[in-house]
Amino acid sequence: MNYKSTRGSKTALSSAKAIIKGIAEDGGLFVPEELPQVDAAFIEGITGLSYDERAEKILGLFLTDYTAEEIKGCVNRAYASGKFDCAERAPLHPLKNESVLELFHGPTSAFKDMALQLLPQLMSTALKKTGEKDDILILVATSGDTGKAALEGFANVDKISIQVFYPEGGVSDIQRLQMVTQEGANTCVTAVRGNFDDAQSGVKRLFGDAALEKKLEKKGIRLSSANSINWGRLVPQVVYYFSAYADLLAAGKIKLGDEVNFSVPTGNFGNILAGWYAKQMGLPVGKLICASNSNNVLTDFLRTGRYDRKRDFYKTITPSMDILISSNLERLLYHMTGDTAKVASWMKELTETGAYDVGDLLGEIQNTFWADWADDAATKSCIHDVFAREGYVLDTHTAVAYIASECYREETGDNRPMVVVSTASPYKFAPSVLDALGEKAEAEPFALLAALEKKSNTKAPIGLSSLKTKEVRHKGVCDKDSMEKALLDFVDR
Ligand SMILES: *Cc1c(COP(=O)(O)O)cnc(C)c1O
Repeated sequence: MNYKSTRGSKTALSSAKAIIKGIAEDGGLFVPEELPQVDAAFIEGITGLSYDERAEKILGLFLTDYTAEEIKGCVNRAYASGKFDCAERAPLHPLKNESVLELFHGPTSAFKDMALQLLPQLMSTALKKTGEKDDILILVATSGDTGKAALEGFANVDKISIQVFYPEGGVSDIQRLQMVTQEGANTCVTAVRGNFDDAQSGVKRLFGDAALEKKLEKKGIRLSSANSINWGRLVPQVVYYFSAYADLLAAGKIKLGDEVNFSVPTGNFGNILAGWYAKQMGLPVGKLICASNSNNVLTDFLRTGRYDRKRDFYKTITPSMDILISSNLERLLYHMTGDTAKVASWMKELTETGAYDVGDLLGEIQNTFWADWADDAATKSCIHDVFAREGYVLDTHTAVAYIASECYREETGDNRPMVVVSTASPYKFAPSVLDALGEKAEAEPFALLAALEKKSNTKAPIGLSSLKTKEVRHKGVCDKDSMEKALLDFVDR
């Protein structure tokens, strides 16, 4: 199966090449030329398998240029290496009226691990398969979470190294500790004297710097990124929709063929799009509920067909959803229209005017998607109420999805089984969660973890609590104008 651009360039690439390239030459995103189809026997067949075996089967349908052995190796290194704190990888937690799909059992306690543990393995294998001589240096600018997830994924991976830039003083104490204690000889973490935008524009400049490209070429190094539009980050996410369905089946909560709804806390539209792929492949998915915070550009889009980013930007207690451009939506528009010229023109309008309108396509989109949003106050009271009712602590992002799932049921009367997709451990956002639970917010990060342990009667993830005793390995700081020197120092180490 080959991959082509959503914006029309002719050449189709193997999945290995698409994963190495990341983004198509015309600025479009790589999409599979056709979608693999599964039948009831396939779904029944994966029910008795482990998560890792389910992953091998589903990845094999998309990554047809990888051998079964290669995929198995990638999956083992990603999920079976002891970095996940539970054997199920993505377990379902049953609540009274829904199940919570916990995607936060990876090394950084958030759902990005599901994909960022696997992408580096797929990329490293792709470099070997395609006979690529150069090594790759992944550059990341982070406001906190993605940087750590990428570091964990790329640490000690062959042929690839990673450098992360974060704003000095611009990330939480826990986030900083997570990054500066990162192990692996191929990792580097540098604080930038500036804010997140300085770090991000600095990284963009490095990517666009032809002189630097030449310098690195002589050293046999190419720059690449690990952002969420890479196909290698999307495809691992299809797996857990199948896995959740299989778990419901195995638990006797549904019969084979019954449709299940999913409510997904959404930012860049990557997670929920993976659910749409699963549905197109034949998984019995009913509605996909797109849950947003006050940055509700997707809610408006899914209700009106008009995507308009010209609006105020809010900093919320669900920072991973503070996004006004949901890049992965482009893939959905491509699959639904099959019209690369149209997609390219919408994306051009978005860049030039800040908005576009999909007109009649809205009806088809609404057949599958439903949308709602929740502000910070509603999010906090949801965390409070669910804990009071069911003794289960939701993280802030998951609470947004929980609220949307309730609104959906109330408004439509659709009572098919509901899975609320949980994208982070509540410990990762302990200050807001404790506040929601009516506890006083401790200043010291480990006191926060302890307070939440006591309140919820659960254990903090080891990846967070163990930070207290870990050695600080990355002390580099640079000015925003000297990021190139920091990069070259790392390369020449
Ligand atoms: C990245 C992230 C999201 C948003 O996921 P998208 O794939 O960008 O829609 C939601 N919650 C958390 C905790 C995240 O880290």
